[in-house]
Amino acid sequence: MDRRATDNKMWFRNIRIRRPRLPRIRPRSGDIMKTRILLTATALLVSSAPAFAHLDPAEHGSLMAGISHPLFGLDHILAMIAVGLWAAQIGGRRLFTVPAAFVGTMALGFGLAMADISLPFVEPAILASVVALGLLVAMAIRMPTSACAAVVGVFALFHGYAHGGELGAAGALPFGLGFVIATALLHVAGIGLGLGINRLTSGRALSRIVGGLTALAGVALIFN
Ligand SMILES: [Zn+2]
Repeated sequence: MDRRATDNKMWFRNIRIRRPRLPRIRPRSGDIMKTRILLTATALLVSSAPAFAHLDPAEHGSLMAGISHPLFGLDHILAMIAVGLWAAQIGGRRLFTVPAAFVGTMALGFGLAMADISLPFVEPAILASVVALGLLVAMAIRMPTSACAAVVGVFALFHGYAHGGELGAAGALPFGLGFVIATALLHVAGIGLGLGINRLTSGRALSRIVGGLTALAGVALIFN
């Protein structure tokens, strides 16, 4: 006991009950972020999955229509999320460059359609893109950045082209902008999903399974 404390008759203030120190189990803030991204991605997937209806862009030439269009078309959703999954799987610089290549080339495809430049096999190519992108994830294919960008770019061209030609010039730009925004959102959802899955114990295997399921869904769309 402290002498001074006793003198002050406040000695009891100096009594300290020692609590045992328990190790703090607190998730790192990075974990919380990743969990949040995963939850957001899952919520986005769940909320958009039952919506199979493909809005007719010709009737909805606006920013909102552009945003909603990919979110309501299973072919676009699957391909764009697969791009994010693939980017998360191969990681590094490609986490950004792969989705950026998709968005950029998609805008180019949209422009080609607006300029009335013909491109064959648009619908089959879009469906093939779902299968191919799913397979890339399923097989965990790794390639140099430029090759990855080129692969997704080729597919993106068709996704963009598909709707550029159906619109009058007046509605095309806001629609295209909305389409780009929604595509980027789907990429982010795919990346979040992929990064979240990768953190799991058998995440590598699980992300390949998700890729395989995506490819299968693509096959189902072809025979739909
Ligand atoms: Zn579409």
